Amino acid sequence: MLGLDTHVQFVKGIGPNIANSLAAKEISTVEDLLYHLPFRYEDRLHPMPLSELKPGEMASVIGEVRGTVLLRTRSMPIFEMTVGQGISSLKCMWFHGTYLKDKFQTGQMLAVYGKVEPSRSGRGFKMIQPQVEVLPAGDDESELLEVGRIVPVYESLGGNKLTSRWLRRIVYNLLQELEGHVPETLPKALIERLALPCREEALRSVHFPPAGTPMTQLQASATAAHRRLIFEELFYLELGLELKRRRFKERAGIGFETSEKVREAIREILPFHPTTAQKNALGEIVADMRRPSPMRRLLQGDVGSGKTIVALQAMLVAIENGYQAALMAPTEILATQHYLAAKKLLERSSKRYRIVLLTGSLDEAVKKLNRSRIFQGEADVVIGTHALIEEKVEFDKLGLIVVDEQHRFGVLQRFRLMKKPSDAEPDVLVMTATPIPRTLALSLYGDLDLSVLDELPPGRTPIVTRQVSDERADEVWKFVREQIGRGHQAYVVYPVIEGAKDDQPELDFAPPEAEPEPMKKSGKKAKTQSLFEKPSLKAATDMYEALRAGSLAGLRLGLLHGRLDSDEKEVVMRRFQRGEIDVLIATTVIEVGVDVPNATVMVIEHAERFGLAQMHQLRGRVGRGAAKSYCILMTGGKVSEGAEERLAAMVRTQNGFELAELDLQLRGPGEFFGTRQAGLPDFRVANLVRDRALLELAKKESARFVENPDTEGTETEKKIVRVRLREAWQRRYGLVEAG
Ligand code: ADP
Ligand code: MG
Repeated sequence: MLGLDTHVQFVKGIGPNIANSLAAKEISTVEDLLYHLPFRYEDRLHPMPLSELKPGEMASVIGEVRGTVLLRTRSMPIFEMTVGQGISSLKCMWFHGTYLKDKFQTGQMLAVYGKVEPSRSGRGFKMIQPQVEVLPAGDDESELLEVGRIVPVYESLGGNKLTSRWLRRIVYNLLQELEGHVPETLPKALIERLALPCREEALRSVHFPPAGTPMTQLQASATAAHRRLIFEELFYLELGLELKRRRFKERAGIGFETSEKVREAIREILPFHPTTAQKNALGEIVADMRRPSPMRRLLQGDVGSGKTIVALQAMLVAIENGYQAALMAPTEILATQHYLAAKKLLERSSKRYRIVLLTGSLDEAVKKLNRSRIFQGEADVVIGTHALIEEKVEFDKLGLIVVDEQHRFGVLQRFRLMKKPSDAEPDVLVMTATPIPRTLALSLYGDLDLSVLDELPPGRTPIVTRQVSDERADEVWKFVREQIGRGHQAYVVYPVIEGAKDDQPELDFAPPEAEPEPMKKSGKKAKTQSLFEKPSLKAATDMYEALRAGSLAGLRLGLLHGRLDSDEKEVVMRRFQRGEIDVLIATTVIEVGVDVPNATVMVIEHAERFGLAQMHQLRGRVGRGAAKSYCILMTGGKVSEGAEERLAAMVRTQNGFELAELDLQLRGPGEFFGTRQAGLPDFRVANLVRDRALLELAKKESARFVENPDTEGTETEKKIVRVRLREAWQRRYGLVEAG
């Protein structure tokens, strides 16, 4: 008897070969196949009359083959087909379409799907490279699936064999065979409260929507059937997170005390009045620290919102309780900067705090000494890079770990390495400058608590942001000179270190956008052209030389990039910090955290190549002092539509949350978070941007389920939920670790 957990190899129509291809797509069971949902639908019950086509829109059209021709143009063969409907017709074209030559016969019925474009003659429309499916004639079964209904279109699971049509049949047969045997996985109480269809019905309608299902809902994955499947997936994610958080709270941590003595120690080091947001965040953090269960808290705040001082105060609480506190930064520059800043602040105190720096590039001897000081308890504050976890540093009595993640989430899961097995669980505070929309953060990091700094320290003036083409570079350099003349400093940032040969972007994501190559000209010619005429990116080292000899001659320039060793980097950074460098020419190594309040200009060259988050981080390097600051986004070369959108957003707003929201929309959650890195789950039906409302619902419902074990499910249902939860977390969210 076929079940959801049956291996696909035993499904009729699938043998070992196909099973292998499917395995490559991570489909091994019947259930996997059924959760491979259509990515769009075609209404073949009410096909669109050609007269209703609108240029620029995507449309699916049913018609018959009226004629085909293979045009051998000088540049390439083009296959042309006329698809007719009554007295109207549509021209379809495929470049290099020789392979289609014998595929179609006049009179055959087709479904084509593509972008509607006006034809060259001005009469009628054409489609370029549309998707095409020959519709069956006569064969009962396939007719049932292919025409006269809303038809699912699937992403192919392999070559031109495991196509939409193949999937339709397989899935249809599976659903027939499984009728009445698709077990429910959500408790009845929940399903009824949310008015969701049962699982079997949902699967059936999502693949073969009943006539009358609104097409817009289908295309948006918003039908009741879709919602049910998406909700289910998110429910199990949130349920796991909820349980994890609860279990974690039961572990033994440290209950710090906040006596008057501790408070006095904090007051001594504070150089300014904290903002209300900083006070609130610290309040939340300290409340956690006082509790005997371990803290796992995310401190989220836009660039410049003043996270560091909040963290330092928390560290003092730990130290004043006789514990060690560690701060981990993502780069050596930042670790060093944190070290220097912390040292300066701690020196304001009448006490003698012992502070130690530990980064990978320190001398072995120094490292060894520092490690032993940490181990002997001769260091109160330890600041370092990932070397702190990578080199298995042992602490004497570690009470608090602050992880300055900036906009990376990589180490969220790994900090536990730092603890000796015998010790109480240290508290952990993760700082991030990625302003994830609050609800999303809460739902995703359900196992972390969240504090937000939603206010900038006083006295900041808004940063003036302008987008200019590098044809106006002269004006820009003149402006930079003016600012230096007033005693300020400037950054100039490039996407690469060295130009020419291997233009290696030093970006941590934003791949140079692949421009959809317009197919107008000869394909071949276009290729060779782009090989030779690829505009070389302006690079930091070259521009450093060029500017020094030219537009910025006479100013004190510095050069900073990732290939310098960390001593060199530190020297440059310190000179810039001390005002001994006027203009710092750099790659994005300066992007995170660097703090030089006297810098008032940020010039980003090739801004079209940068991601939103990155530009926002870079802009955050200026506007840190009282003087008016400027961010100049210089573009060189072609600016794609997406890049235009990013640049316009930068000019429009300085609000990190707003920009993050847009970034999320533009890039999608996978890239936004860097799925792998973040340990984010791979969803099979859910999409974190699109389904945010359902994510929140799932969070609420999962908490309710855990809190009300008596009313939310029968014993059997709870058992099913437990099994399902384990499966889901083992298979899909392995990276988040079910711990
Ligand atoms: P980020 O959140 O980006 O890490 P920082 O902690 O580096 O921000 O703080 C940015 C700048 O603002 C620093 O120069 C810091 O000294 C200053 N700052 C932080 N809090 C305040 C405050 N309450 N009042 C005045 N300046 C502050
Ligand atoms: Mg910071």
